[in-house]
Amino acid sequence: MPDLDPTRYSLTARWVFPVSSPPLANGVIEIESGLITAVHNCRPNPETVDCGNVALLPGLVNAHTHLEFSDLQRPVEPALPFTQWIKSLVGVRRERPATEAVILQGLTECQAAATQLLGEIATQDWSTQTYLAPGIRTIVFRELIGMLPDRAAAQLEIARKWLGESDTSVTRGLSPHAPYSVHPDLYRDLIQLAAEKQAPVAIHLAETLAELELLDRGTGEFVEMLQRFNAWDQQIIPRGTRPLDYLRPLSAVRRGLVIHGNYLESAEFDWLEKHPQVSVVYCPRTHAYFQHSPHPWRTLLDRGINVALGTDSRGSNPDLSLWREMQFLVTTFPDVDPAQILAMGTQRGAEALGVGAEMGSLEPGKQSQWASIPLPETRDGDPYRLLFAGS
Ligand SMILES: [Zn+2]
Repeated sequence: MPDLDPTRYSLTARWVFPVSSPPLANGVIEIESGLITAVHNCRPNPETVDCGNVALLPGLVNAHTHLEFSDLQRPVEPALPFTQWIKSLVGVRRERPATEAVILQGLTECQAAATQLLGEIATQDWSTQTYLAPGIRTIVFRELIGMLPDRAAAQLEIARKWLGESDTSVTRGLSPHAPYSVHPDLYRDLIQLAAEKQAPVAIHLAETLAELELLDRGTGEFVEMLQRFNAWDQQIIPRGTRPLDYLRPLSAVRRGLVIHGNYLESAEFDWLEKHPQVSVVYCPRTHAYFQHSPHPWRTLLDRGINVALGTDSRGSNPDLSLWREMQFLVTTFPDVDPAQILAMGTQRGAEALGVGAEMGSLEPGKQSQWASIPLPETRDGDPYRLLFAGS
């Protein structure tokens, strides 16, 4: 590509996928001072740079990952039972404590897969400098864990300090880890803090049937796991609790992300439908790795609930490519409109992470961030078939 006047230029390509509107053959994107000013398929002007046989689309959005495991060569085993997988993952973390170099390795891998926006869970107060890689924006959710009441004060203090930092080079959020690892009172206090600070929240919720059993009856593999960690007391979770009880407090936050939501049911759908600030993040290949029942993503979309995509970590996924997540969906669900899948990996992800006004689609007023996907040389007239055959 020739040198561009960084303040004002335009691009054309075989296909442009604005996402907010249908794909344009020989589309043109006009850019001025870092913002998109027009997207059309009228004749390009003589200075327009022709990108050739590629698709231009918004940068991809990976709404959920844990970059601290980015050096793993393959997913942690065994996948099942889930608490055994957690135990193995904890073992991996103990053997090779995460470093900033590993996080950078993950960011670089995401960039190479056309990801330009990331929802990251951080288990330590990494310097925000760690996340400042060119061309990628990261929303960092500080993870909090504490099932016994005596851990609550320290976890709240970590959360307060994290959200109180004046450095705004990354967007800061909180991640009370999951119902099986955070005391309900600590959860409530963390959500209240996030609401006060206007910070986004991400929680792993309704991920396994064992989690539902723990909430409903206080039994099952999570009780055994928590007892091994000396972190269980029968009184902590009231019997008859369900994921809905963890959704309700989220009505106070600016943005909420339900990570996985594999086993959400109609009571949760009803609530989500009325709370558009809360999105569900589906991690397709991680979901397949754990052999869960079919994910309700299509029902959620049908009911107008926002669904974004994530890779989760390399602890449960072979790589961090959001592109491959979309290709996996296109192949696995050939009856789904691929435009929906592309929107989940771009526009819906940006919306979930609270930056939908700036990123996620190619339309006037948004930032000039795009991904370029090489297309096959075939004459196929179906733009989506061409796109997802690209690499
Ligand atoms: Zn996760």
